[in-house]
Amino acid sequence: MRAIIALLVAAGALETTVELRGLGPEPFDGAFSAQYLAQKACGRRVAIKNLLMDQRIVAGIGNIYAAEILFRAGVRPTRRAGRLSRAELTRIAATVAPVLREAIGEGGTTFRSYRDSNGRPGSFAARLKVYGREGEPCYTCSTPIRNVVVGQRASFYCPRCQK
Ligand SMILES: [Zn+2]
Repeated sequence: MRAIIALLVAAGALETTVELRGLGPEPFDGAFSAQYLAQKACGRRVAIKNLLMDQRIVAGIGNIYAAEILFRAGVRPTRRAGRLSRAELTRIAATVAPVLREAIGEGGTTFRSYRDSNGRPGSFAARLKVYGREGEPCYTCSTPIRNVVVGQRASFYCPRCQK
């Protein structure tokens, strides 16, 4: 699994350099669960997107994947982690592994740096629901996708699908 994390790092999904021993559980690890996420979110004022991207909480979630996870979970990236309901945290926790698996299956998201073993760029980018789609219609409800800055990072979301 470290190899997969390395792949995601190589894909440019992870821009924060952290020591590996400081990383939280990996998304596919049994230790990462709704219960775990609820514990980490409890009382936290930080935006949920930043919590998800905190590598000490869970390893390997970069900006692109955080946006996609929150869209699929129906939660706005700006919401304070400590204010989310248990149901919302459960949806988020349940969405993390499928999104990352999909990304890995598609050879990562990027763009410039990542090429698969055949030299092709990753194709997950073609399946992004919100990331990089500011002003374009949401695939689910046709509302224009918005982009807000959260923790100095672009954060794409659908104002209708994400509460
Ligand atoms: Zn929508």
